Order: sequence, then C-alpha cells, then structure tokens
Amino acid sequence: MSERRGLLLHACCGPCTIEPLRALTEEGWDIAIAYVNPNIQPDDEYARRLATLEDYAAVQGIPVLRGLSDTAVKDIWQREVGCFGADRSRRCRACYRLRLRESARMAAEQGFSALSTTLSVSPYQLTDVIAEELEAAASEMHVDPVSRDFRPLYAAATRISRAQGMYRQNYCGCLISKGEAELERELRRKRRRAEAEVRAMQREAEQTAHAVEIAAQRASRVAHDELVRKKRAARDAARAARNAASDTSPQVHPSFASHTDQPTSPERNRA
Ligand code: SF4
Repeated sequence: MSERRGLLLHACCGPCTIEPLRALTEEGWDIAIAYVNPNIQPDDEYARRLATLEDYAAVQGIPVLRGLSDTAVKDIWQREVGCFGADRSRRCRACYRLRLRESARMAAEQGFSALSTTLSVSPYQLTDVIAEELEAAASEMHVDPVSRDFRPLYAAATRISRAQGMYRQNYCGCLISKGEAELERELRRKRRRAEAEVRAMQREAEQTAHAVEIAAQRASRVAHDELVRKKRAARDAARAARNAASDTSPQVHPSFASHTDQPTSPERNRA
C-alpha cells in the first residue's frame, strides 16, 4: 500500500470545505485544514465562519490549523489588498496571493508535501487566478500545488451544508465584497420587481386584447343575426304580398265560359 502524503487544505469556510475535503480524501491525501483568511471582516463574521469550519472538521476528525498571524496578516491585507478598492480582479488576485502564500509557508513549516484550496469550489471566485496563485505560492515554498477545479461540486456542497444547517454567508469576505453583494442583491430585487411589472402589463394587455376579440366576435354575431332576421322578414313580406295579390285577382264569370260548355237550347236547335 502506498504511503499517504500530507496535504494542507486552505479552507475559506465550512460549507466550501465539505466537497473538496471528500474528493481529496478519496484521492488518498492525508489532510489537515488551514484557516488563513485575514480578508474576512468584520471580526464576528471571521469568528463565525471559523467556528462553523471547526465544528464540521471535528465531526470529520480533521485538524484545523489557524493562520499563525491572522491578526498581523489583517493589517497586511488592508495594506496590500484593500488598496485596490473596487478593482475586483486585482483585489481578489492580491487576496488569494496573500492567503495562499501564508498557507504555503505553514505547509512547508509543518512538513506537508502538498497544498490545495477550497476557494475553487465557488463559481463566484476567479478560478484561473486561484490556480495561478496556488501554483506560484506552493512552488515558492517547495510544496506541490494540488490545483483542482471544484466548481462541479458546488451544488452538492450547497445542498449538504443546507441540510446540515451550517452557517452560510452571503458575501465573499471583505467589507468591499459585502457592499458589492448587497448592491447586487438590491439590483436583482429591482430587476425582479421590474420584470414582474412588465409581466403584469403584458398579462393585462393580453386580457384586453382577448376582451376586444370576444366583443368583436359578439358584435359580428349580432350583426349577422340581424341581417338574417331582416332577410327573413323581407322574404316573409314578399310571400305575404304574393299571396295577397293572388287572393284579389279577378275570377272568370260563368257567363264567359265557352259556348261548348253551355247546355243546347231547344230554340237554337230549332232555328
Ligand atoms: S472579494 Fe473575496 S477574494 Fe476578493 S478581495 Fe474580497 S474577500 Fe478577497
């Protein structure tokens, strides 16, 4: 039997850990989790995600290593990542870099041979950038990058975490992403409201068109019935007139009847 190799799995939260942990365990890795997420703000959110992850890992029998210098790294995060503000692609790349570099350093320091991350399970993250930063960070610290596109597992992770009643956050981590997520939700709500209004207007227009069509058909039927009624009345009147005319036409008087029809007079025979 081949020896199981140690892999440090950088994890952003409990729900995102479920499926990558299962898949990598099935690949034969001996896994420990690293919670290195100085990006998560505010502090109570950071603690809540960590507690959720630790509860899940405890049930699975997996150790969780906390980022050695999470508090110190928070200042670095503000300086090196927060500076990009709304520029999401540069901000997120810098954020992945900081977390994965710190995770790679921990992996090397604690004798793990490989490093992976749960970040790529989310379809909302920049998957290619995560892979690039994971490879760079791992190579720098001479551990093997185990880069996987876990996105196909996202639906299962969502289903399982919901079924288990795990805390599921609704923004990525930093306060900028919290604001962006709230804005997107508000835009989605407005879009749904606008679409519902358009649908209601379309329904009303269709109902009006239908009512107009029914009214037109009814009017056409009434006009047709009226025409038929008038034709019948005209025909009846004509028939009545013909009958009246035939009733008043002169009768042939018997005196004009043909003489051959008259009885033979004895006087005329005598003459
Ligand atoms: S959106 Fe997420 S990945 Fe991007 S900077 Fe914020 S916390 Fe980091």
